[in-house]
Amino acid sequence: MKVCRNSKDTALEMIANDPQMRAITERYSVAVTEEVMEVINPGDPHDPVARQYMPSVEELKTTPRELADPIGDEAHSPVKGIVHRYPDRVLLKPVHVCSVYCRFCFRREKVGPGSEALSQPELEAALDYIRTTPAIWEVIFSGGDPLVLSPRRLTMIMQELNNIPHVKVIRFHTRVPIADPTRVTPELVAALASEKAVYVVVHCNHANELSDKVRAATQLLIKAGIPLLSQSVLLRGVNDKPETLEKLFRTLVEMRIKPYYLHHPDLAPGTSHFRLPVAEGQTLVKSLQGKVSGIALPKYMLDIPGGHGKVPLMEAGYYEDEAVTDYKGRTHDYPEE
Ligand SMILES: *Cc1c(COP(=O)(O)O)cnc(C)c1O
Ligand code: SF4
Repeated sequence: MKVCRNSKDTALEMIANDPQMRAITERYSVAVTEEVMEVINPGDPHDPVARQYMPSVEELKTTPRELADPIGDEAHSPVKGIVHRYPDRVLLKPVHVCSVYCRFCFRREKVGPGSEALSQPELEAALDYIRTTPAIWEVIFSGGDPLVLSPRRLTMIMQELNNIPHVKVIRFHTRVPIADPTRVTPELVAALASEKAVYVVVHCNHANELSDKVRAATQLLIKAGIPLLSQSVLLRGVNDKPETLEKLFRTLVEMRIKPYYLHHPDLAPGTSHFRLPVAEGQTLVKSLQGKVSGIALPKYMLDIPGGHGKVPLMEAGYYEDEAVTDYKGRTHDYPEE
């Protein structure tokens, strides 16, 4: 798809005028920011940033393996807004909106401007669940994107968590510092302050996304004493080359961001054009081992469909012959397409 530099509206208008694109936007949300448009090369039909955000007709194809809830969030939700899959940590999802909508998103049928945030009573019920479950050591804000919340609302939720003694660690998973960096203001950073350990995990898939504005946003967080980690999704046509991954991970480490996870793409509907076989991912990641500093290498992870948790694909005992064994020792089929 052709997009125009600094012209988000023009790009979205082109989408709106195309009937196939309309079919996609009726099902999945679309949004980009000015900052994302600035790092897209309009002359490159294969631009790795555009591919992450601009809808494509390939999304109209849904394969039988693709599930609406590819990682089984719903089966593990004891109360609205909470996903409790592992014993010591929960996801807290206060909002379902994002600054941008990634075309490969595993929650793509759940996120969007029509999806409501948790109401105040729902949020209180979610916080009550955390308060009354002493096994919860870590709360992971996810979404949607939790950093689209106003600093005022974030401060309020953080205060509630600060008063729960068994919660020791608070983690945010967000794309805001990468895709909407001007939202990272001193007020937003102050809202994340806590006596507890606070970590921010940014979602970034290509070094081209790491502009000067993104650097400024991430440094603001780091200077406030918040360690930054990154997660990336391995995506066909975006970062499925060893040199692309190497540049991404090196640039992140140079920015004081530790690459944490490289996710194998999930079975989200209409995303088969982004997927590659596990064996190809393993070969790619192996090619970086030893060549690249250990601190620049994330773990390559698969989130098992059906909500059985994530497993490391480079470690023995988890994946073999199109089957995957979860952390509890149960084996599940994972056929390639
Ligand atoms: C991914 C995920 C986590 C976090 O897993 P880590 O391996 O600790 O990063 C926690 N809960 C759920 C439901 C998840 O999907
Ligand atoms: S920012 Fe995260 S939750 Fe939002 S669309 Fe992208 S991957 Fe999905």
